[in-house]
Parts: sequence; C-alpha cells; structure tokens
Amino acid sequence: MSMAADPTRPEYRAAGTDLSERRRSGVSRGALLDVAAPAGVEPTPDGGLRLGALTTIAALAADPAIRAGYPGLAAAAAGLATPQIRRMATLGGNIAQRNRCWYFRNPDIACLKKGADACPARAGNALYAVAFDSAPCVAPHPSTLAAALLAYDARLDTNQRRDAPIAEALGDGRAASAETALRPGELITAVALPAPASNERAFYKRAIGRAHAEWPLVELVLRASVEGGVFAGLRLVAGGVAPVPLRLQAAEAAALGKPATATTFAAAAAAAIEGANPLPQSRYKLDLLQGLVLDLLEQAASQG
Ligand SMILES: Cc1cc2nc3c(=O)[nH]c(=O)nc-3n(C[C@H](O)[C@H](O)[C@H](O)COP(=O)(O)OP(=O)(O)OC[C@H]3O[C@@H](n4cnc5c(N)ncnc54)[C@H](O)[C@@H]3O)c2cc1C
Repeated sequence: MSMAADPTRPEYRAAGTDLSERRRSGVSRGALLDVAAPAGVEPTPDGGLRLGALTTIAALAADPAIRAGYPGLAAAAAGLATPQIRRMATLGGNIAQRNRCWYFRNPDIACLKKGADACPARAGNALYAVAFDSAPCVAPHPSTLAAALLAYDARLDTNQRRDAPIAEALGDGRAASAETALRPGELITAVALPAPASNERAFYKRAIGRAHAEWPLVELVLRASVEGGVFAGLRLVAGGVAPVPLRLQAAEAAALGKPATATTFAAAAAAAIEGANPLPQSRYKLDLLQGLVLDLLEQAASQG
C-alpha cells in the first residue's frame, strides 16, 4: 500500500459531513486536524471576491455579491446536497471531499484509492462511473462547487501555494489517494474569484436519480454572453462525468460566434461528447450531458 493511500494518515476536518461517514465505516482512521482557515466572503481590490475555506455552502448560496456577480456559483451552491448539509458543510471540504464510489466507501473492498492495484468498478457495478474514462479509477469527481469554481476561473490559496488556478489544484484525476492534486498536508485556506464579467448570464442544472439528497448523475454550469443574438462568450463545465470537473471546450467552440438558435444548440450538444469513452454502464450519462447542454443554452438564449 502506498503511503499516500494509508488509511491511518492524519486528515483535516472541516464540518465533517464527508469525513465522519468514512470514519464511522473505518475507511479513514487517522488523527484529525481541525481546519484553521477564515470563513466569510470579502471583496478584493481587483473587484473580485475572496471566499474563506470555512465559509459554509449555505452562506455562499445566500451571499448577495456571489448571487449578483457569479450566479452560476450561487445556483450550484444552492442546488447541492440538502439544506442541513449546506448549513454545515464548508467550501474547502466540498472541494476536497472524497469520491462516492461504493467500492471505495466499503471498508471491506480493496480499490485503487485505498492502495490496491485495480479498480473493482471496472469489472463490477459502474452505474455511476465516469463517461470520460481518463484515469485508472472510474469514480467521477464529487464536488459541485469545484465545477462551478472552474467555470469562474477561481484561484486557490493553500498553506503550500498562493493564487494557484483551481485546475492545478484539482489535477488530472489520476492521483493515487485523492480526488485532487493537493499534496499531503496541503490545506485550502481561501478561494479567489476574478472580477465578474459584465453582460453575462449563468446557470446550473443537474440530472438526478431522485429528487433531493443525492449527488447528481451529471451536472452542468454554463456562463454565456449573447450580443446581437450571437454567443459572444461561453463557458461550459460538467460534473459527474470525469475524474475532475470537465470543461467542454469543443461544445464552447461549436457555439461561440454563432447565432443563439436551435441549430447552434444542437451543434454544441453534439460536440459536448467529443472524446467521451464511457463504460458500458455509464453510456447513459452522455444523453444526460447533451440534454443539459441543450437546456442551458436554450435558457441562456431566451433570457436575453
Ligand atoms: C445526502 C448528501 C448529498 C450530497 N450531495 C452533494 C452534491 O450534490 N454535490 C456536492 O458537491 N456534494 C454533495 N454532498 C457532499 C457534501 O457537500 C460534502 O460532504 C461537504 O461539502 C464536505 O464539507 P465538510 O466541510 O463537511 O468537509 P469534511 O467532511 O470535514 O472534509 C471532507 C474532506 O475534505 C478535507 N478537507 C476539509 N477541509 C479542507 C481544506 N480546507 N483543505 C484541504 N482539505 C480539506 C478533509 O480532510 C476530508 O478529507 C452531499 C452530501 C450528502 C450527505
């Protein structure tokens, strides 16, 4: 077993909504280090915002400056988990939470993220697995906020790096023992958002297996600006489909500079699954992803 996958290594605890479940089952059993980081939302000199890592998800969802300038993030925060979880759970804990794969969560089953040399889901039940299969482990990245923060070009401060693009901290999903590229002992202290774009609208939508209290099957954050009936700016980030939140660059390219019409929506939805290589059981996620792309582009176009 690699050192990094050692279940007895020390772990940070924020609100513990993810961690305590893993500790109850014995998947995680190291020493606990309570997170020391700020909570709250502050303006920055460049017109952006700085979010303390201990800010609760409910506080993010309700914050007037986030709702006004980063509505895709506010909607993602308001749409995840349950009111009870959102009131307790923190920004840093959401980004760094561990995956939801039932093989990983079961203390009696060996898996890659627990130091074994194979992913049991590949030959087993992969219903909730990735549809862009780009890492040895097939669990999708669990963080809704990470997808929204990637869509807004957020940057992270940790106790080991300053002002790092969130994509760098998330990594490529191939880390042996985490769903991020955070190093052992690395603590997220704050997240910075650049100044909000003007004339932009943003939306968040999830495809779900049941009405509430569940991680989404697929989720999508969209930022768009429409000028003169044409998509002048577009950012699409999907969750639930890849080992890290996935920017849908081919879909963005298919719609940018094009009229905000059904033909463009369809071209972007077709491009959204470029490069997908689902497992047989996760192929359905591609239909869900295309449906979300169509829905949100339509919504962006109709709210002009
Ligand atoms: C029913 C249900 C539905 C849910 N649905 C969703 C959903 O749709 N989308 C979604 O994103 N989440 C969902 N969640 C998960 C929930 O959002 C997370 O459990 C929560 O955000 C974790 O935050 P926390 O503060 O409790 O973290 P903790 O449980 O304290 O920590 C989680 C992990 O992050 C590490 N950590 C914590 N803070 C930091 C930090 N500052 N720096 C580095 N590492 C840190 C810890 O060591 C631990 O490994 C759901 C949870 C439940 C129970």
